[in-house]
This record gives sequence, structure tokens and C-alpha cells, in this order.
Amino acid sequence: MTMSEVSAKGAEEPAELTDGIHLVVDALKLNDVETIYGVVGIPITDMARLAQASGIRFVGFRHESDAGHAAAAAGFLTKKPGICLTVSAPGFLNGLVALANATTNCFPMVQISGSSERHIVDLQRGDYEEMDQLAAARPFAKAAYRVSRAEDIGRGIARAIRTAASGRPGGVYLDIPAAVLGEVMDSAAGAASLWKVVDAAPRQLPGPAAVDRAIDLLAGAKRPLVVLGKGAAYAQADEWIREFIETTGIPYLPMSMAKGVLPDDHPQSAATARSLALKRADVVLLVGARLNWLLSHGDAPTWSPDAKFIQVDVAAQEMDSNQPIAAPLVGDVGSVMELLLERSKPGMITARNGLTADADELVTARNEWREELKARSGKNVAKMAGRLEAAATAHPMKFLGALGAIRDVVAEHPEVRLVNEGANTLDLGRNTIGMSVPRHRLDSGTWGVMGIGMGYAIAAAVETGDPVVAVEGDSAFGFSGMEVETICRYKLPVITVVLNNSGVYRGDDASTTSDPAPTYLSARHDRLIEAFGGTGYRATTPAEVADALRAALAAGTPALIDCVIDPSDGTESGNIGHLNPKGLSATSAPTPAGTAATSRKKGN
Ligand code: ADP
Repeated sequence: MTMSEVSAKGAEEPAELTDGIHLVVDALKLNDVETIYGVVGIPITDMARLAQASGIRFVGFRHESDAGHAAAAAGFLTKKPGICLTVSAPGFLNGLVALANATTNCFPMVQISGSSERHIVDLQRGDYEEMDQLAAARPFAKAAYRVSRAEDIGRGIARAIRTAASGRPGGVYLDIPAAVLGEVMDSAAGAASLWKVVDAAPRQLPGPAAVDRAIDLLAGAKRPLVVLGKGAAYAQADEWIREFIETTGIPYLPMSMAKGVLPDDHPQSAATARSLALKRADVVLLVGARLNWLLSHGDAPTWSPDAKFIQVDVAAQEMDSNQPIAAPLVGDVGSVMELLLERSKPGMITARNGLTADADELVTARNEWREELKARSGKNVAKMAGRLEAAATAHPMKFLGALGAIRDVVAEHPEVRLVNEGANTLDLGRNTIGMSVPRHRLDSGTWGVMGIGMGYAIAAAVETGDPVVAVEGDSAFGFSGMEVETICRYKLPVITVVLNNSGVYRGDDASTTSDPAPTYLSARHDRLIEAFGGTGYRATTPAEVADALRAALAAGTPALIDCVIDPSDGTESGNIGHLNPKGLSATSAPTPAGTAATSRKKGN
């Protein structure tokens, strides 16, 4: 029954009524949700309208995956679950990629989806967009819940927000069938069924014995190293982290999304001596960073086989996932760093037994460690400067030529939120473009996934109001490129810079048939944005890239700079080419006519 049917029928019952749609919007408002990212359709269109009319900003996308990525990025930037709204079955499934990615990255978000009639879906009688969405979502989310009665909407939303934000943050799925959205109930009872979540992510502190254990280990380290991960950036505990690192003098290494927690030009940054730092460190303090593939699972030879690990993580199950953790510190980064800071003093940490006998020896060892890293850093920086200099004048333009120009302009605008994805564009971009402010870099993250670009960029602009520069490989951009229309429609200050080398990895692969090579792409991306009313630039030299970027930032309106990059510049799979299977080489595989069957060789 709809609300109007009820009011028409029930003239004798003048009770104020509400319905599921109103209750969802009221519950979100009560929990201070300011923005919903989504795509409308059956059965949630009216919910989007009502949310907008009620003062919640609704950002309408072209594809649910992008809306979901936006919600995830909003969660990372604000520490509050981003909300994504999707339609049933296919729309829900499109959003699920983002929900799974958010969960992997430990970003809090809630995907609310409409779904079809339960009594038809559950008997598989064949409904419009029939799917058991709850079951489908469960393996890909931190948690999945379904609301089956309008009176449970407030409970469902509170539960979703709590689960997404608390402990290890992640993606939560909330299924609300169309019938529940249309369900009518007494308005006073409905209002009474809603509540606001109190302290959605409570502080978590490790016990004193755990802190002592970690402190003792750190205090005795000759070559200590702090590794900051995106959990450290997420925690918004920048002051504690900075003070701890500066007080103790320990060198630190930022993972890509932790760049800017301390400025990249900080004298204690070991980023430019990364491999040496990992290989030689004897005690490693992981702060919101996992020993996953991005850190070679903590294995030798990347790491010293004798390295001891201290890990700060809100999730106890992360400990020992790859290496023995000698001193687990289970808690939120802010609380733990505050505790560690209490025990640190200039240049050192105070162990329980003091550090009398060995103190001088340790101070000397740590000074040598810093010098060792500094010397390697100096060499690497000089090498990189040479590569950048050579690229600056190379024609056709190289990745590094364009990235060097972007680096210079971004350095003039520390307020810029940088989004970065691609293969070569990501690998080279990460090392070229410096960050000086926390949470100003968003990238492919734990999965190394492509397709986050425009969703992350839109959320960064919407949530912060800062200008956004999305540095995209041409292939990566294609996954979310249509959202350029969304950027233009909402007039967001997003500048997309596409490093266009005409292909996935590279654009000069030979084809063995009359079709283009599997890796080949062909596009004038600057023309794409012009179709939607934005400003398109085409740049063929680093100077043109810099000029276009400066002009676009000054304008503060949607723009896209298509950078024409040498198609032969680019490495297969970027830095992670070794992950490709080493089977028979594709280029020596049989041709369609089967003539090469005898000439197959092992690839390498
Ligand atoms: P990176 O890829 O930058 O190394 P990861 O995503 O692998 O970072 O690791 C982030 C870790 O931070 C996760 O294990 C997550 O549980 C943890 N984490 C997230 N938020 C917090 C927080 N507020 N306090 C402590 N740990 C956190």
C-alpha cells in the first residue's frame, strides 16, 4: 500500500503516517549523513529525490561501481561511512566491486540497495531483477544485513554504520526490499524506531604489557624503521605520528597513501632509499600497514631475515598473517601512538631497564644507520633527477616528462587532492609527485585495482571542496571515464590528466591479425569532456602539460588534459610484470593458421 492509498482509505484514521523511504532518509539524516553517491532506478528513485529535498546531497553517477568507489573514498577521507545507493540486481552487482574494494582497503562505506520481492525471489519464481542480493554480498563485505520490516530501518542503518566504522573499517551491505521501502507505518512509531549511533568507532588501546614489549624492542634497535600505511593516514592522528617520529629520530617509510602524513621532503623520510631501508632494518614498527604483497610479505631477501616486527593495527587478526609479530599493538593508531610517545625522549625510547650500558653504542649505530640511508637517498635522488631531466626534453613526450611537469605544478598547490591509477602512470607517478599534506593522495590501493579514478576524484572534490587532479593511465581512465559527465554536471573542480600512450601498458604492440593488438587503445580524451561542456586540452610537451594544468587549476572548473605520450614508452604491467604467468610466450603462440605450433618456446 502506498501512502496516498492509505490516506484515501483511512479518512477515519487521521494518524500521521510515514513509509520506508522516509524512514531511510530520516535515519541517515539523524546520523549526520550529508551525501549519498548513487544511481537511481527501481526501487530507489524516490528515495534519492526525497534525500535531496531533505538536504542530503545526492550525487548521481553513470555507473554504480563509480558511485561505490566515491562512497569508499568519502569514508577514507572523513572516517565516516560513505553511503552508496544502488538499484536491484545488476546495479547492486555493479556496486559490489566497490564494496569489496572498500573492504579490502579498510575504508568504511555502506551500500544500501533496493531489491525485488522476497516471496518471489526466494522461490525463484522469476521476478524483475531477481537476485538473492544478501547472499551475494556476504562474501565480499565486512557484513551484510537485510531489513525486512519498516520498523527495523533505523536499527538496520545504525547497525550498518556501526559495523562499517568500528574496529577495522570496511564495506557493509544493507538490503532493503522494495516492499519495505513502500511499507507504511505510524509516523510517531517510525520516528521512535530511529536512533543515532554514539561514538561509531570507539578508541581501542593495547594493555600496558603490550606497550612495554614494543618499547623494549624499539629501544634496543640499531637500525629501526617506521612504516606508515594508509591505516595511519586514515586514523587522522597526524600530530601523534609526527611527534613520535621526530622525537625518536627513527627513519620512516610511507606507503603510497600515507605519503603526506609527514611531508615527502621530511629529513627522516627513507622513501628514496626504500629497498635499503627494508633490507637492513632490524626492528620495524608497522603503523596501519600490512605485510602483504606490497611489502613482499615481510620475506627475505626484500627484508632482513632477522628483522623483528612491531605492528600497530586495530585488527588483531592481522598480526602473524605473514611474519611472526614480536610485539603486537592492537589498537587504533591515534591511541597507540600517544602511548608510545609518552615513552619516547629525544633521539631514543625509554625501555623498562633504561638504556644505560648500551646507550652510546646504540646512538652510534643509529647515527650510522641514518647516514647509510642518507647516502643511498642522495644517489637515488640524483639518478631520478637525471631521468627526469632527460625526459623533460624528449620528444615524443615520455611518462616522466609529463609527470615531471605535473609534479612541479602540484608542488605549487599543496591543497590539491591527487588521484592516481594506471600501470606505468601509477608506478612512476607515486615516486615522482611529492605530497606534503595528509590524505591528499588516493590511489589503486591494496588490490592495485583500476577503475577507482573518477569515483575517488568526485568524492575528494565533494567531501573537501579542494581542487582534485586525477593522474590517469589511458587504460585505467577508460573504466570510469563516463563519469567526466558527472564531474561536468556537478561542476566539480576536477582536472583529469590522462597519460595517453595509446595502449594498456604501451601502444606500439604489433597485432598478428587485422584487428588491433589486445593492448592497443585509441582516443582523444580531451574531446570527451568537451561533449559535456568541460574544457579539453591536448598536450604534446611537458611545458604544454604544465601550462594546461596551471590554467585549469586557475579556472577551478572541470577540465581534462590529454597528454600525448610516446606509444613505445611503457613497461608491461608496470613494476609488477613479474606477476604475469610465465607460460608459453604469447607472441610465439600459434597464429590463427596454426603455423607457429612447432616454434613455441618457453617465455621468460
Ligand atoms: P598500506 O597498503 O598503505 O600498507 P594497508 O591497507 O595494507 O596499508 O593496511 C592498513 C591497516 O591499517 C589495516 O590492517 C587496518 O586494519 C589498519 N587500520 C585501519 N584503520 C586503523 C586505525 N584507525 N587504527 C589502527 N589500524 C587501522
